[in-house]
Amino acid sequence: MAAYCPRSKPESLMAQAASARIAPIPSMKSITLLCLSLFVFISPAVQSQEKAGQDPMTSILIVVGPSNHAPGTHEVAAGGRLIEYCLENMTNISGVEGDVVYAWSEVPRPHHEYASIVFIGDSFPGEKLPDSDQAMADISTMMKRGCGLVCIHYGVGLQKDDVSQDGDHPLLHWMGGYFATKCVHHQSIAKAYRDAKIDSAVPDHPPSRGWKTFTLFDEPYINNYFGPDNNQLLPGAFALATSLLPPENPRKEIVAWGIQRRDTGRGAGITLPHFYKNWQIEELRRFILNTILWTAKREVPEDGVQTTLPALETFEPESVEVGQKKKKALR
Ligand SMILES: [Zn+2]
Repeated sequence: MAAYCPRSKPESLMAQAASARIAPIPSMKSITLLCLSLFVFISPAVQSQEKAGQDPMTSILIVVGPSNHAPGTHEVAAGGRLIEYCLENMTNISGVEGDVVYAWSEVPRPHHEYASIVFIGDSFPGEKLPDSDQAMADISTMMKRGCGLVCIHYGVGLQKDDVSQDGDHPLLHWMGGYFATKCVHHQSIAKAYRDAKIDSAVPDHPPSRGWKTFTLFDEPYINNYFGPDNNQLLPGAFALATSLLPPENPRKEIVAWGIQRRDTGRGAGITLPHFYKNWQIEELRRFILNTILWTAKREVPEDGVQTTLPALETFEPESVEVGQKKKKALR
């Protein structure tokens, strides 16, 4: 919702620092300028700092993919706007801004300025956007430099045509797992459960800060896919949250997971929420926002991200309540 403001880069500083590098005997001033130039080079997010003395801004890209679910469910566009609002209005942490886009060509800033990307849509938007080839190529470049990645609910999904026969796909390595839809190698399960109890799997980990076990009526995905070695988690990957599901034959299912990648990037998949109304559940919202901050390499407060949510209508969903899918008009 926030308007995009182009930001100037401190080019004069870079030029001064460059000249400092060729001085035969570095003076204190040149060392200082060199350090400053390295700081600017190492931390692209700092380049968006408007005035000296302000906290560096952390920019999060929020990519909304196509969705065909009934009103009140998924609501990916409203969900994307809600995430942006929360990131920009946290009461105990500042300096985070979000950009919501509905097509890859709309990304308003240079890609290197983003600390993390959040995807929300009906299966992984990188594969479903109209300009998906360009999106996948650019996302790959962003991941290689250590950019974070978080997928929300069906955003964690890949379909048979997206993956190779053995189930390999870049998303598996960027995020540590995915929901396999109608795939040959694996079939994950999506079903709504009235009393799904969500437990943190890593209580001391930043995404787990400030929330305890909660129970909700939702669709946490189970039997997610984590890799070719008998579905064991890849090196660096770990469970973030589990649930004992399904009720008739319960086993500890990983319903959210994360990965610390070798490229220094952090990825995470959280398979909730299916129902738009469940964004009102503070524990779930905190878990998701904590996780986004963690992937952006920002410190997560000890009591987790604190937010106050306006009425869900504010974000213009098709419906807050669950409704029927619209039927195509008959001619
Ligand atoms: Zn769903």
